[in-house]
Parts: sequence; structure tokens; C-alpha cells
Amino acid sequence: MSLVIIGSLAFDTIETPLDRRERIVGGSGTYCALAASFFTRPKVVGVVGKDFPKRTIELLRSHKIDIKGVSIRAGKTFHWEGRYGADPNQRTTVRTDLNVFADFKPELPPSYRSADILYLANIDPDLHGPVLAQVRKPKLVAMDTIRFWIENKPKAVFRELGRVDIYFANDEEVKLLAGDDNLVRAGKKLLECGPSLIVAKKGEHGALVFGTDFVFGIPARPCEDVVDPTGAGDSFAGGFLGYLDKVAKITPREVRRAAVYGSVVASFAIEDFGIDRFLTLTSGEIEARFREFKRLVFF
Ligand code: AMP
Repeated sequence: MSLVIIGSLAFDTIETPLDRRERIVGGSGTYCALAASFFTRPKVVGVVGKDFPKRTIELLRSHKIDIKGVSIRAGKTFHWEGRYGADPNQRTTVRTDLNVFADFKPELPPSYRSADILYLANIDPDLHGPVLAQVRKPKLVAMDTIRFWIENKPKAVFRELGRVDIYFANDEEVKLLAGDDNLVRAGKKLLECGPSLIVAKKGEHGALVFGTDFVFGIPARPCEDVVDPTGAGDSFAGGFLGYLDKVAKITPREVRRAAVYGSVVASFAIEDFGIDRFLTLTSGEIEARFREFKRLVFF
């Protein structure tokens, strides 16, 4: 099968209670693609400025990520700054400089157009239509969205929910979009809007997967030292979709395993700043942690 990811490639400035990093490489597309690359050969669509490091482009290539869909434009790369408090689940966006991302018009190279799985990572919901018009017949379309779009373009977000199979969001976003403070009721409400799966991520408390006739819950791997929570959500989606792309089966059993792989990959992403943990991560470590997860929930 093949997986196409549309998202941001970025510079992030991150502040945690213990440390601060300026303009390190991040972006929803970057995290998702790196996470998926441990399972499959993802294709990425995005835009960067001339200031984006060549060594990062080389790094993506060395992870067998297809970057034909990443265009390099005159100007500066998207920059996001976030601050975390003592609770790693709570973050504040300090600033967002869209730069070249402001007029991002995703264009899929011909070799991307027969994608089986399409992931629309946190982009303007009004860009979904033009992307979907470029792909032939995907078997699965997934999207993520953030508070910014839910607050600014709620109608567009609801319209897009009607066109996707999976909606990835954190629990706060699920409740906000559904207008219901109870996560279970909120998940059910969003299922009625179209997707067959709602994946509600709950930070250090794991995730709940709502299907039309089941709910599946997974804990997060207990972690004593969260260095940088940025990218956990996108890494979860990358592991989840990368695994489904690899096994080429979208059955209830594989969806459950995909959710565990998503959680496992996200648990590595937060162990270091930015994408650094992915530089040394191996498939062997992922498998070992998958087995550890099995022991954690066995009773
Ligand atoms: P996550 O922690 O998985 O929710 O995603 C963090 C990543 O999202 C960061 O690396 C940011 O660069 C990226 N990001 C933040 N805001 C936006 C936005 N408005 N559009 C696209 N990407 C964003």
C-alpha cells in the first residue's frame, strides 16, 4: 500500500520548565513521516523556505521518506513557538509565523495520486477538498485538527469530518468540537458526523478509540521523564497509519494493534527534544516496547 502525509515542516521554539530550544526542526508532517518510516515508506507533501536545513532533507531521505512533494520556496520556513508548564499535557502557543506556509497549496506529484492511505495533518480544513480532488481512490482518509481551526472554521471542520474515515484529536479537541464535556458522549457525537473511527489522544493517559460498535482504550507507556511532548500526537498518527500501511489490512484487530504502535512510537518521540529521539530509534526498540505494552495491560 502507500501512505501520503500532508503537513507542516517547521522550525519550533520550545520551552519546558527545565529547558528551552530555539528553532529546532519540527512540524506535523516531519514527526508523522519519521514515525511512519519505521513501518513503511511514506510520501510527504509540504513546503519549506530556503532556510530549511539541507541535512534534515537528507535525514528524511535516509529514512526512505519520499520528499518529491516537498517544495522549497523563497522565504522563511513556518515557525511555531510553544511553552509547556509543569503538566506536559498543557501547552500554550506563544507564536505562529506561517511564513511560506501561508500560501501553501498542496500539490501531489503524479506518483502520489494513487495513495491508499491519506493523512491530512493539521492543515487548513479548506485545503482538504483540493487535496482529495488529486487522489484517485484512497482506501482510508484520516485527519487531525487543532483548536485554532475548531475555533476559527468550525463549519469547515464539520464538513471535512463527513469526508474522512478517521479523526485523530486530543480529548480536549474532541470535547470542544462536539460541544460536550463528556469524552464518551463527545466521541459518539463525532462518529455520527461521518468518520468510522475517532481516536481521542489523552497525553500521558493514553488514547480511546471510538468505533461505531466498540470502544478500545490503551494506556500511555508510563514515562518518568517527558523531555519534550511536542509531536507526540503526530508521531501517534504516523505509527498508527504507517503500521496499517505495512500490514495492508484495515481490520478491527489491526486497528487495535495500530493504536498500540502509535502509542509506542509517541512514547519515544517525547524522550528527547524535537525529532532527536528518532535519529537513533530502531525497529528492534519499537518491537521491544510493543511487547512491554502487552505485559503492561495483560490481566
Ligand atoms: P503535536 O505536538 O503532535 O500536536 O504537533 C506539534 C507540531 O505541530 C509542531 O512541530 C508544530 O511545528 C506543528 N504546528 C503547530 N501549529 C501548527 C499549525 N497551525 N499548522 C501546522 N502545523 C502546526
